[in-house]
Amino acid sequence: MYGIVEKTQKININQLPIDNENTGFYYKLNSQTTRFIKFGKIKNGFGYRVYLLCPKCKNKFNNLYLSDSDILLCRFCMKLHYKSNRSNDPKENSIGKIKRYCRIHFKANDTQINLVIIHGISPSKPIRMKREKYKHHCRILHKLYYEYLIRLTK
Ligand SMILES: [Zn+2]
Repeated sequence: MYGIVEKTQKININQLPIDNENTGFYYKLNSQTTRFIKFGKIKNGFGYRVYLLCPKCKNKFNNLYLSDSDILLCRFCMKLHYKSNRSNDPKENSIGKIKRYCRIHFKANDTQINLVIIHGISPSKPIRMKREKYKHHCRILHKLYYEYLIRLTK
């Protein structure tokens, strides 16, 4: 069962005190546990735009979500969905998942996304992406594609 974005506790980058010296922040999950969450920076005009780095996939996000097991992850690693995006048609739903994953993690365009959906071919590796991370994303994408195929044949 997938979680829903709107119902999950989150941390938003805009709620955090940020100065350029900081490489991240300590987030107190409860009285015993504190986690260090790294910032990711993207050059933007005269300065930097600051994001939260997901500890698992290392991608940059405005929000991280808190799981029951006290782990902070992005909505993809946490497998969260927007309530409003939920479709009643499972086929459409899994295509949506594949598209979103491709756009965010592979920076894929529509042609590449169509290749994924029609032929199951993973988008090529973005230039700056490390090979290990690329393999990781391909594995997740293959899993999503497999779920999609299963639903097609049902
Ligand atoms: Zn992630």
